Amino acid sequence: AEQEGVKVHWLRTISEVSEEIEVEIMELDEWGKPRGTGKFEKLPADTVIMAVGQMADTGFLRNIPGLRFTDDVVQVDPATLMTDVPGIFAGGDAVPSERTVTIGVGHGKKAAKKIDVWLNRRQESPKIKHPIVGFDDLNLWYFGDHPRSIQSELSASERVHDFGEVVQGLTNDEAEFEARRCLSCGNCFECDGCYGACPEDAIIKLGKGHRYRFDYAKCTGCATCYDQCPVHAIEMIAEK
Ligand SMILES: Cc1cc2nc3c(=O)[nH]c(=O)nc-3n(C[C@H](O)[C@H](O)[C@H](O)COP(=O)(O)OP(=O)(O)OC[C@H]3O[C@@H](n4cnc5c(N)ncnc54)[C@H](O)[C@@H]3O)c2cc1C
Ligand code: SF4
Ligand code: SF4
Repeated sequence: AEQEGVKVHWLRTISEVSEEIEVEIMELDEWGKPRGTGKFEKLPADTVIMAVGQMADTGFLRNIPGLRFTDDVVQVDPATLMTDVPGIFAGGDAVPSERTVTIGVGHGKKAAKKIDVWLNRRQESPKIKHPIVGFDDLNLWYFGDHPRSIQSELSASERVHDFGEVVQGLTNDEAEFEARRCLSCGNCFECDGCYGACPEDAIIKLGKGHRYRFDYAKCTGCATCYDQCPVHAIEMIAEK
């Protein structure tokens, strides 16, 4: 915005709107929160646009009996993303969440699975989540260095003329490349590393999407699979 000539008046809050806008000059307190200074200044303005906070537009759901709302979002069972009304699922910004793209996409995937379970009246046993895998647990040698793809942008002189997208996005190939930069922390991505490395042929490949099974009758506990797993998806547990 500054490249386009926008001047940002940091730490100001509107105190009065008349012919001109009166703003109070703010300062940051010891916790980094803005507080008033009692000093004011006038800003000339043709238009004032309020852009404070974000709300989900869930008004169209309010006519459905049985849905439960907190402020702008609909309540769901976090395990299934089903609302209080059987068969109605919700996710992303419409439910209590961090309101990010990652969470929205994750909710979409989870809801699709849960809808399938619900429609087919299947029973699901809850999956146990593995502990969070940290950066230090990864074998980074596997991945190599692949810097982030840079999205092209319209120049400042071009973008001041219309409301076209400034950041031009990624091509399909670039987006796929970016997705492959995911380090898949703690989640087997079927690289076949352990399968190839096991000296005892104790790892059985179950086919694409089904990962592997360990034959504990053959396994000697040598930890070769564990040591080389790029994403720390294998745990060694002592025999009882
Ligand atoms: C300015 C801004 C910047 C952001 N920057 C980031 C960022 O950098 N990174 C990040 O992770 N997140 C960012 N977010 C948040 C992110 O955009 C949202 O969390 C995400 O888009 C939510 O996805 P969603 O599918 O839940 O909802 P949405 O993307 O809002 O999709 C809801 C869709 O439903 C449609 N819809 C609404 N009502 C109806 C109706 N009655 N009938 C049919 N369709 C309807 C809407 O048109 C919309 O297409 C930003 C949000 C804003 C506003
Ligand atoms: S467990 Fe690890 S080494 Fe084995 S296939 Fe999955 S990601 Fe690769
Ligand atoms: S611990 Fe050793 S023997 Fe057991 S599955 Fe892993 S690589 Fe194979």
